[in-house]
Amino acid sequence: MAFEGLTSRLQNVFGKLKGKGKVTEEDVNEAMREVRLALLEADVNFKVVKQFISTVKEKAVGQEVMKSFTPAMVIIDIVNKELTELMGGTQSKLEKSNRPPTVIMMVGLQGAGKTTTTGKLAKLLQKQNHKPLLVAGDIYRPAAIKQLQTLGEQLKVPVFSLGDQVSPVEIARQGIELAKKDHHDYVLIDTAGRLHIDENLMDELKQIRETVKPDEILLVVDSMTGQDAVNVAESFHAQMELTGVVLTKLDGDTRGGAAISVKAVTGCPIKFAAMGEKLDALEPFHPERMASRILGMGDMLTLIEKAQSSIDEDKAKELERKMRKAEFTFEDFLEQMEQVKKLGPLDQIMDMMPGMGKMKGMKNLNVDDKQMARVVAIVKSMTTEEKQHPEILNASRRKRLAAGSGTSIQEVNRLIKQFDEMKKMMKQFSGMMNNKQMKKKMK
Ligand code: GDP
Repeated sequence: MAFEGLTSRLQNVFGKLKGKGKVTEEDVNEAMREVRLALLEADVNFKVVKQFISTVKEKAVGQEVMKSFTPAMVIIDIVNKELTELMGGTQSKLEKSNRPPTVIMMVGLQGAGKTTTTGKLAKLLQKQNHKPLLVAGDIYRPAAIKQLQTLGEQLKVPVFSLGDQVSPVEIARQGIELAKKDHHDYVLIDTAGRLHIDENLMDELKQIRETVKPDEILLVVDSMTGQDAVNVAESFHAQMELTGVVLTKLDGDTRGGAAISVKAVTGCPIKFAAMGEKLDALEPFHPERMASRILGMGDMLTLIEKAQSSIDEDKAKELERKMRKAEFTFEDFLEQMEQVKKLGPLDQIMDMMPGMGKMKGMKNLNVDDKQMARVVAIVKSMTTEEKQHPEILNASRRKRLAAGSGTSIQEVNRLIKQFDEMKKMMKQFSGMMNNKQMKKKMK
């Protein structure tokens, strides 16, 4: 899970501060020493850490934190703001050309996730009612063209290819001509990667750049490689004048060093973050939301946006009504599992909910497809009365359900427990959705 280590360490540091009525300068220094260690352990660039700690200390003293009634909160607020600044301050949006198509060149080392990200970006653009064209310019990696074509088929986005015998410069040039002719407003050019940065690669990329004059050159880097990713970004930026970075595999990056340092070190903004292998696992990068996630304060805005784009509103309203009236049944549970699944992996959803990380039992709530099928089987074995009044499910009824669904008593027990937990979670979620302040923020 993203930032797991860093978040829990920072929460510890701030927890200690919160426990104190008064905070002395020595307490602040001690806390900053621990924050420094936590950041270094998260593989944040050491120069960035040094600068960060000194800025936070300066502001903390300047704000007369020690005299405030809630010194810990003031310090957390300062850390939050500085972390946001470090990652770019505000969201850096994708450029849009006045004379379509907008041309986006995707670059990066092999294995970083460039081709997958190209597909994900096409999907994101498609959702915004754009009409992207994909151009298969990676003629060296044997399966790259086929991979892009498969992605294109899944998304119903056309892919322009001239096979692997024509130069990528020519492919890119013809791709853009086709885009103009067919009225595509975005062209995403997938380019070749290498295992390491080498001159041939850079020369070829520069030639493509000179020919197509892209509006965006996005570098895709694997955030799991930490400072290596930052170094790669620095080298690419020096040669290619990147317009943005896309961080991939944030779902597997427990440390977070690349996300925190890449902008500070290279000056190049992070525009997107990818958090999974599926095509909808790409999000625009919002520094302030990311800071909030790192500090364990959740990211309700992203969660609500996801909910709005993937959940059926009428169904959600009906469910919320049931929730409030405590009419939530096992049938609703099934329905809800389906809906929640659309939001993405559950552990990521939990990360976005403030305070959820602490609800340990929730971590076992899994909604993968196989398990889903077993859950459906168990629920289908229930009588209507059992579905609506799960409290009557005693030992003998549970035994019957296990036999009827071809599962085990343990599984039935687990499901009933999950049902109760889902009820709790949804109550909290619907409470948050109704939070007036939150609604105002969304406007
Ligand atoms: P390329 O060589 O840069 O074009 O890399 P690919 O697009 O082929 O991706 C390499 C591998 O990384 C594939 O197995 C992808 O499924 C995987 N991948 C890409 N992005 C992500 C991500 O955000 N999270 C995870 N977990 N895997 C990813």
